[in-house]
Amino acid sequence: MSVLIQNVLIPVDNGYETVDVQVTGDRISAISSHLEGSETVIHGQDKLLLPGFVNGHTHSSQAWQRGLIPQLPLELWLADVLDSASKDLQVYYLGSLLTAVNTLLSGGTCLMDHAYLLAGQELESIGAAVRAYKEVGIRAFIAPLIFDEPFVAGFPSGRSLPHQPYSQSPAEILDLMEAIIDQFHEPEAGINIAVGPTGIQRCSDELFEGCAALSDRYNLCRHIHLLETRAQKLLAQEKYGVTAVEHLRQLGFLDHRTSLAHSIWLTDEDIDILAQTQSTVVHNPASNLRLGSGIAPVLKYLRAGVNVSFGCDGAASNDGQDLLEAIKLGTMLHNVTDPDYQHWITPQEAITMATQGGARGVNLTEHTGSLTVGKKADLVLYDLTNLSLLPRTDPLGLLVLGRPTQVVHSVWVNGQLVVADGKVLRTDTGQLQQELLSRSRDRKSPQFQMIQQVEPHYRRVMGLAGSDPTSVKG
Ligand SMILES: [Zn+2]
Repeated sequence: MSVLIQNVLIPVDNGYETVDVQVTGDRISAISSHLEGSETVIHGQDKLLLPGFVNGHTHSSQAWQRGLIPQLPLELWLADVLDSASKDLQVYYLGSLLTAVNTLLSGGTCLMDHAYLLAGQELESIGAAVRAYKEVGIRAFIAPLIFDEPFVAGFPSGRSLPHQPYSQSPAEILDLMEAIIDQFHEPEAGINIAVGPTGIQRCSDELFEGCAALSDRYNLCRHIHLLETRAQKLLAQEKYGVTAVEHLRQLGFLDHRTSLAHSIWLTDEDIDILAQTQSTVVHNPASNLRLGSGIAPVLKYLRAGVNVSFGCDGAASNDGQDLLEAIKLGTMLHNVTDPDYQHWITPQEAITMATQGGARGVNLTEHTGSLTVGKKADLVLYDLTNLSLLPRTDPLGLLVLGRPTQVVHSVWVNGQLVVADGKVLRTDTGQLQQELLSRSRDRKSPQFQMIQQVEPHYRRVMGLAGSDPTSVKG
């Protein structure tokens, strides 16, 4: 099976070129000025071809919480997220399906789902996500979100609050991870299991070390939240006496397969460690703004040689799942952090971060992330006649800095056509729409209660004026 995309615009070092791109089987087989002899021909005139973006961090099951959670800092927001999470497997599956559809239609061909596990249905949860991703045809990394410490442990001095020890031991959780790997890790089918301890806030050293060992044994990516909030920075000092990054380095958790979501509260020494260990930072600008977490020092990362990719984060903290929006915010946000405009991220650099940087963050550099003959055909074709991309100026400039709306024309993942004429081909989006609508009508308003147990403590340890709960309105 071969496809020829004729006369299509692609970015090159100093501008653009119009070329023919041939896909044979799962790979890009030729890029040249005049190619012939393919079974299917696609007219690429007035279209731009890019490698697919990687959504480097999301939580697909949060799809049901978009627009739901009040604006709160992470630690308090999380209490509301846990209070309002569904335990229904079909709901879980639909969340993964919706996340995959949103990803494809905003230029992504691959995502990292830091996937919540439904208690008592852990294997079934991952099974539901796998079913959704295979159905839609997206390349997926699924990092089951695991932890072995109680919720209150995520707050500075949090263990002084009343709590029960966490119900599962590290050994039990690692056994579960091994069962998940055994059942679902299928890289040839585009489904990759990763190890995903949630972060230093709720994980023991034993769990991190066990995950690193599983990563070594099965060559899995490693994925965590890192220093998302100032509270986590305080917690790391309290817990380890050194920074979280230094501690993770000592545990052997950081390497070229490690991606670190958020990474906001790092020291200059921490940044050097990320560069030395070839770890990737996943930049989630919308979520960081929504939760007031801070501005990740992305310009410093880039200058230090740290790989940076983009993520949407889950829909409870970025109520859209639009990769182009994440890229736009993540490009412009840093202009206010550095007056030297020569350091600012250009649209071309932003696209490289979202494609090559994204691929490197999931250890796929050799296989995806660029328009290179021999690489996997994970490709996105943009319609440059869309009103939001007119008048024609600089296509990448407008794609990144503009407000592109429904501009994705076609998408291939592993050489398979999964979106054509702006429509997802392999799942019935009309039926998805109906199911989301009918289930929304059946839902009750959530009762946010857990927040009341932790809010006075949070205000106290964070030095916020008074310690009266203010979020009763939530
Ligand atoms: Zn997250």
